[in-house]
Amino acid sequence: MFSKETINKFKTIPTPFYYYDLEVLKQTLQLVKTESAKYNFIVHYALKANANNKLLNIIKSYGIGADCVSGNEVKKAIECNFNAEDIVFAGVGKADDEINYALEKDIFCFNCESLQELEVINQLALAKHKTANIALRINPNVNANTHKYITTGLEENKFGINLWELDAVIKALKTLKNLQLIGLHFHIGSQITDLSTFRNLCLRVNEIQTIFEHHKIRIENINVGGGLGVDYHEPDKNRFPDFVSYFKLFNDFLEVRPHQKVHFELGRAIVAQCGTLISKVLYIKIGVNTNFAILDAGMTELLRPALYQAYHKIENLSQSEIYNPKSETLKYDVVGPICESADCFGKAVQLPETFRGDIIALRTAGAYGEVMSSAYNLRERVKAIYY
Ligand SMILES: *Cc1c(COP(=O)(O)O)cnc(C)c1O
Repeated sequence: MFSKETINKFKTIPTPFYYYDLEVLKQTLQLVKTESAKYNFIVHYALKANANNKLLNIIKSYGIGADCVSGNEVKKAIECNFNAEDIVFAGVGKADDEINYALEKDIFCFNCESLQELEVINQLALAKHKTANIALRINPNVNANTHKYITTGLEENKFGINLWELDAVIKALKTLKNLQLIGLHFHIGSQITDLSTFRNLCLRVNEIQTIFEHHKIRIENINVGGGLGVDYHEPDKNRFPDFVSYFKLFNDFLEVRPHQKVHFELGRAIVAQCGTLISKVLYIKIGVNTNFAILDAGMTELLRPALYQAYHKIENLSQSEIYNPKSETLKYDVVGPICESADCFGKAVQLPETFRGDIIALRTAGAYGEVMSSAYNLRERVKAIYY
């Protein structure tokens, strides 16, 4: 829900742009802090969800660490004053220069995804006379029951070390003298809304812990990744994910050894609801089944619908109830200007009668929105405003 004042402000700013409600971000962060602190859990923010400097500075101010998936994300985290000892670095394809950079910065941990990667990090650490802290990213073969493009914890996915490879990896680690195994890492997917999925993860982690105990290997850190979903359909009703149940579930089901620390890597759950893509209607075009509302924002500003058939709630702010309480709705295919048929934000969307110049909001766009924007069709890079 946007106030009349905010909507009037939007009308004075050139579209399209991202609007970030920093109050919503801060309230979300406060909840994360309070609920995770109950169990002494450590939270890292996954930069890939949104690496906007202003947001990163606020996130950092809540004492949250950084979860990075590229060398430039590690660099960005350091530039935004995240402490190196609070930075973890995952990714199936870490390049040598990215590894070298993270080694120079003495980050907390490399989350390693293959035996081949372990060998390369060992070699590069040796050349620098350093010991790299590593965690094994294990593919627990747990189904996240989410869109197939954002499922990462099944054997068919490229991520992590499979359970059947573990013995070989444990054996190899004994010879890789410049690596220090400090933890186990898991991340099974994104936009997970059924909490029982995380319970399945906990039970699998409990089993995997015993494998390491049989090998008499002490594990200091258990990192269960991120993936907590948000409500794209009812952003006003459910502005905050259920962090209370989420953290409690891990406390209830994860068998944590007394010396162990538990880490989380939340991205979407922290930033999704604070962001909205604001755009303007350029044309109403008459179609066969439904009419088209053609916006000045497209897949170049918000790729998720085209990439994952993702849903974003679409609202016509110019014709919103504040102005037009009785207006009936019509169906529109809401599309962007890009020369791709996938450039569609929603089919047969119910909106009040919509006109050229109306302001359209695409809600819950704070995660995987601005960071995925591109210059395809030589578009201008999307701007952001904050309140
Ligand atoms: C993307 C990613 C996350 C964050 O996922 P969300 O669904 O945004 O919480 C956490 N850890 C790793 C390793 C990731 O790749």
